Amino acid sequence: MNQLRTPRIEINIAKLAHNANKLAKLFNSKGINLMAVTKTVCGDPVVAKTLLNQNIHMLADSKLVNIIRMQEAGIKAQFVLLRSPAMSEVDFVVKYADISMNTELAVLKKLSTAATKQRTLHKVILMVEMGDLREGIMPQDLEELIQEVLELPPLEIVGIGANFACFGGIKPNEEKMSHLSSIAKNIEKRFKLPLPYVSGGNSANYNWFMTTSNTGKINNLRLGESIYLGRETLNRTEIPELYTDSFTFTAEIIELKTKPSIPYGDKGQDAFGTHPEFHDHGLMKRAILGVGSQDVLISGLTPRLDIDILGSSSDHTVINIKNTNLKVGDEVKFDLNYGALLAAMTSPYIIKEYTRTLYPPFITHLKKDGQIGTAKVK
Ligand SMILES: *Cc1c(COP(=O)(O)O)cnc(C)c1O
Repeated sequence: MNQLRTPRIEINIAKLAHNANKLAKLFNSKGINLMAVTKTVCGDPVVAKTLLNQNIHMLADSKLVNIIRMQEAGIKAQFVLLRSPAMSEVDFVVKYADISMNTELAVLKKLSTAATKQRTLHKVILMVEMGDLREGIMPQDLEELIQEVLELPPLEIVGIGANFACFGGIKPNEEKMSHLSSIAKNIEKRFKLPLPYVSGGNSANYNWFMTTSNTGKINNLRLGESIYLGRETLNRTEIPELYTDSFTFTAEIIELKTKPSIPYGDKGQDAFGTHPEFHDHGLMKRAILGVGSQDVLISGLTPRLDIDILGSSSDHTVINIKNTNLKVGDEVKFDLNYGALLAAMTSPYIIKEYTRTLYPPFITHLKKDGQIGTAKVK
């Protein structure tokens, strides 16, 4: 018997290595080192190992179980817990994470107790609220909190950080970055406390980085999406010379029939409690893919062929195959957005397949104005 083939996500290791390498070189050129964020791929050890070979030495994840998964696979790196620990998990945080990001004194006290018990030090980065309104200590409360944490000896404050464009859609622009820089400067001065990590944000910081003339005290970023999908995340613009197709989602056609385009009969709710609307396009060639909303975020898939996704229930996705000559048993391929990638990597129903072909390769060429340009070979 062969292995199960579909539905699957193909993970191109060579393309991920290329993207990580390019981004690490780019950001290092202005004194910024990277943490590679692994939550996007559910702490996949093959991916994590690939990123570590590209001048990246820190892996950051918001879930402790992903950090444990990578360690159990034998991966050696500095592990960072990206999310403030839950009170109930502090013992595990001290055991498995080298650094955790924190915002709550009550949690920090528990971490301190856990570290004392385990006779070890634990490093913390304090997250500062800068307007996106997810996690963070209000800037006016930061110094008082630092004063308290300095009284908790097994904890070592190694930095401050801020997060942007995740909850409130707030941009990490020049003003926000110089504000964070000045907060870092004040802390170093007031407490004589060097901050090895001043972590300015995530994949949304690309535009700021490319346009700023002064990165100030910012010396770290935590990158997920731009490594995996090759885009910055404020406008989802492609980053030059990166692959945007490192992941390919593949599903298989299990039914293909010519049917009307509007459901007929007495109408109630669909599988998810909504009342879908349909337009009449006459008869159409409708195919069912053997994958559904339990496996992947269907709305985050973009077909690579000229076909339309009509909708999905938990295990079925209905597509209009239009003028393609697809048939039952054929595979259909899709690009994934961030949400679709998260879901597919997390689903136990999606087969993970690793590939290594680097195509198309990138070439460098001289443009008419003498500038160096790059292009993908089609
Ligand atoms: C998820 C996350 C990141 C990574 O964000 P990307 O947009 O994928 O680069 C960085 N920092 C924190 C705190 C996160 O939760």
